Amino acid sequence: MRPEILSPLFAPVSTLKGVGARVAPLLEKLAGPIVRDVLFLAPSGLVRRTPTTVDQVREGEVQTLIVTIDQHQKPGRRDLPWKIRAFDGTGFLTLVWFKGHGEHLIAKNPAGSKRVVSGKVDRFGSEIQIVHPDYMLDAERAAEIPQVETVYPATAGLPSRTIRKLALEALDRAPEPAEWNDPAWLAREKLPGWRDALTILHNPMSEADTAPLSRARRRLAYDELLAHQLALAQRKAERRSHPAPVIAAHPLSEATEKALPYKLTGAQIRSLSEVRGDLASGERMSRLLQGDVGAGKTVVAMLAMADVAAAGLQSALMAPTEILARQHFETIAGPLAAQGVKTVLLTGRDKGSSRAEKLRGLADGSTHVAVGTHALFQDEVAFKALALAVVDEQHRFGVNERKRLQDKGAGVHLLAMSATPIPRTLELTVFGDLDVSRLDEKPPGRTPVATRAVPMPRMGEIVERLRRAVGSGAQAFWICPLVTESELMDLANAEARAAALRKVLGSSVGLVHGQMASAEKDAVMADFADGKIAVLVATTVVEVGVNVPNATIMVIEQAERFGLAQLHQLRGRVGRSHRESACVLLYDPPLSQTAEKRLDILRKTDDGFAIAELDLELRGGGDPLGLRQSGFPAYRLADPVAHRDLIATAADDARLILARDPKLTSERGQALRTLQALFDWKPEGLTDAG
Ligand code: ADP
Ligand code: MG
Repeated sequence: MRPEILSPLFAPVSTLKGVGARVAPLLEKLAGPIVRDVLFLAPSGLVRRTPTTVDQVREGEVQTLIVTIDQHQKPGRRDLPWKIRAFDGTGFLTLVWFKGHGEHLIAKNPAGSKRVVSGKVDRFGSEIQIVHPDYMLDAERAAEIPQVETVYPATAGLPSRTIRKLALEALDRAPEPAEWNDPAWLAREKLPGWRDALTILHNPMSEADTAPLSRARRRLAYDELLAHQLALAQRKAERRSHPAPVIAAHPLSEATEKALPYKLTGAQIRSLSEVRGDLASGERMSRLLQGDVGAGKTVVAMLAMADVAAAGLQSALMAPTEILARQHFETIAGPLAAQGVKTVLLTGRDKGSSRAEKLRGLADGSTHVAVGTHALFQDEVAFKALALAVVDEQHRFGVNERKRLQDKGAGVHLLAMSATPIPRTLELTVFGDLDVSRLDEKPPGRTPVATRAVPMPRMGEIVERLRRAVGSGAQAFWICPLVTESELMDLANAEARAAALRKVLGSSVGLVHGQMASAEKDAVMADFADGKIAVLVATTVVEVGVNVPNATIMVIEQAERFGLAQLHQLRGRVGRSHRESACVLLYDPPLSQTAEKRLDILRKTDDGFAIAELDLELRGGGDPLGLRQSGFPAYRLADPVAHRDLIATAADDARLILARDPKLTSERGQALRTLQALFDWKPEGLTDAG
């Protein structure tokens, strides 16, 4: 139930003055559907309207002058500007209209009248001018022009000044709720109250007030982060309260590990013991195993599944694509079978009696491990005793899909795996409701991938090198980006590239793209994995996580268009053996400064977490880390970079609050409920509250 005090903020934006059928949709698109959304619309900055005189003007700045109209200079043609010459005691000022001019300007501003005008002053030849003044009023109304004016992110049809008016009206409707933060902490940090902070947000007195690090902005950011962390902590606590089978580490799993042709890395050992701690706890595990491409996540999952099988229970490993599912199956089925654990592969391709038999094995419990695609969570798939769900490339699945898999058993432990490197500082906001294990150490024996940025005009050299490398048995990926909005165009580009490469390299060039049927794709991928194809042209990351150890060359066209994280993941497809690998980042010159820096980062390091952290520092607009795809929340007032120091504080605070007052019934608890209602978090987490 939403506290009554918030009702005015949850009214539709159409209840704001001046918001009718035309403005409402624009405002909804810009801010959101309710008054609260307008209230939370942060200004992008402010302009000062310094009062001045013609002889004192500063070009390029927004200033306010009081002038007398001297003469209208009507244009000879409609496409020429209308000019008004005006003057004050110190000189002449020209006011210019390119649009919307006409006789009405004369009627409104007759010669001899005194006007206050405000706008950006520039020089045109010898004339001092203001083009399209922001304000032009009778001089007596000079006080109506604000000296400092907040600027909002305007859109076509919805200018900053209109938004400002609406934001101020929304501010008027904002209540004065009871304080939800610890007053001692607020005092120590010198942070204002909620309503005061909003007042400063929309009425900044100086540039300092609009900076993300201003006290008002930090206060509002903290509230948002706290509301989110509370929601995550509640969900975590709720999930923990569900019992789940106690599964102990078992000698069978040790035997499986001993039989591996390699030793686990320190990070794998640590992660596995964290997983085992959860499985033995009696509470439902919700753990994310984060590790760079090639860090060796699969074997950790396999050993956990061995423990589960030894306890007489079942596991399911779900992968986003058929080829990945097949690779996982091939990796784990053998080692598990050697210990008497039966594994099946279940994909959309299983039909008829073979499928029926697989389903029977899962239903009667004689099969302990199922590996598969989306086919796993279909209704006909029933488990006798499912106890562990492993979800690979977790961001490729929706919450409901994961839940449907977990719902196939009572108290199913969840192990999610991800190769998207989230910087440590942001981990809490993305995965705050999960426990995280990190594989931050690569298996030994990998040679770093030599990475070079090469301008497109020199592509010929690259193709020639590729020809020689292929001649001596090497395999390569060639990635074409999604450039246009149209898949067909991109496909045409990729086809043209494949054809051009075939001319030079012969027939051993294959092509996979998003529009192929999955069986077709799999066939091409399989040919590549078997070495029948030397160069695989792909439209994008068609297959995540695919393992082709013999591939040692990665060429990425228009690398500047990819996010850093994506480039890093693509590069991770090579360098999986002792052989030297190379990654060529082809780009269209000239590169912007940021693009250059980003490609440079990639050349200098291959640590995914470090890359993510550096990318964060370079972050311009947009979503270069692909964070949105990984379930990153869209904050309104908090900036996960500028306010990152507040994230950990908010997480600690949330934990402490719930430890003392799990149901939020204390006085502060009640106030915190108002905070939660205000932000109305429905964060998409890895698991559902249930
Ligand atoms: P990812 O984390 O990308 O899913 P995989 O689980 O596919 O990585 O492992 C990549 C490769 O590394 C596989 O061929 C696997 O057999 C190998 N591998 C995993 N762990 C080790 C290890 N400790 N030592 C050597 N090779 C390993
Ligand atoms: Mg993997």
